[in-house]
Amino acid sequence: MKKHNFYAGPSILSQQTIKATADAVLNFADTGLSILEVSHRSKEFQAVIDEATALVKELLDVPAGYSVLWLGGGASTQFYMIPMNLLRTKAAFIDTGTWAHNAIKEARLFGEVEVLATSEPENYTFIPKGYTVPADVDYFHYTSNNTIYGTEMRYDPDVPCRLVADMSSDIFSRPIDISKYDAIYAGAQKNLAPAGVTIVIVRDDALGHVDRPLPTMIDYRTHIKKGSMFNTPPVLPIYSALQTLRYYKELGGIKELERRDLEKAAVLYDAIDSSKMFVGTVTDPADRSIMNVCFVMKPEYKELEKDFVDFATARGLVGIKGHRSVGGFRASLYNALPLESVKALVQAMQDFEAQH
Ligand SMILES: *Cc1c(COP(=O)(O)O)cnc(C)c1O
Repeated sequence: MKKHNFYAGPSILSQQTIKATADAVLNFADTGLSILEVSHRSKEFQAVIDEATALVKELLDVPAGYSVLWLGGGASTQFYMIPMNLLRTKAAFIDTGTWAHNAIKEARLFGEVEVLATSEPENYTFIPKGYTVPADVDYFHYTSNNTIYGTEMRYDPDVPCRLVADMSSDIFSRPIDISKYDAIYAGAQKNLAPAGVTIVIVRDDALGHVDRPLPTMIDYRTHIKKGSMFNTPPVLPIYSALQTLRYYKELGGIKELERRDLEKAAVLYDAIDSSKMFVGTVTDPADRSIMNVCFVMKPEYKELEKDFVDFATARGLVGIKGHRSVGGFRASLYNALPLESVKALVQAMQDFEAQH
């Protein structure tokens, strides 16, 4: 049976990425060796990381003066690596979900942290508005897409200071004005590659201004100087990332990815909004994520939630159970998910509703 993969992360990858990765596990770049067993300093792998870096710069229109890094440790490592490199006295945050919350907690270890707004008392069902970002902070940190709660800021905020963003779950789904940022980071396992590598885009001139001693591995300048090869980088995930980036370019780049993502999200949100059984957990359309769509059953149908998960699973719709902190359902519509899978989910929702 055809599977429709709605997992939140690790998550669906393009067939092209999976196939090319499988081929390279058997024979990498005609070396007669597996990608799993070659030196990261071989000329064949150097070509991989060089092309992947160039494609990130091209697709995201990264201006001069910024470096693209491929690091281990997941996005969660960036929660402390960012403040260690960039936080001199004070940083401002908004608390929009679990990941933002974790980033705040880690930054507090390294300086003053102002939390300007939070939607936590309402279980993070909206993006806070109406707060003022002070000009005297080193940076304003936000999480562009709240993977667990299904809210998203699909814009680069206008603030009187530098920006830092966790874009783990929506990078490559919209154009970004990188010049407003000191740093952007994204774990690869949502929209790019298998787990194990994190992309960091950092403004070179933002570095070197903190007084604290930085361990070599924590200092972004180490990785800039060594082209992400100071130590052994996550070779296989970088190889897969390159395949995805090539696929993105072939499709037509970020604008085309965004068009597809908007179309997929509209199909699912329309079905939710016109349903008598299902209801979205994020009510303001402006705050709704186009990557992770969270919905539940209305109170009068609540006891059918588990049945619907089983019903969907039997049709090959995998990974739609909501995160435990929201409940209900979450359909992740990352770039690699075809519109056809969204339509299959909508059909299942309508058929289930008709049966009850
Ligand atoms: C998944 C996720 C993280 C955590 O990433 P790890 O690579 O597991 O550390 C952080 N932020 C966001 C927005 C995420 O979706």
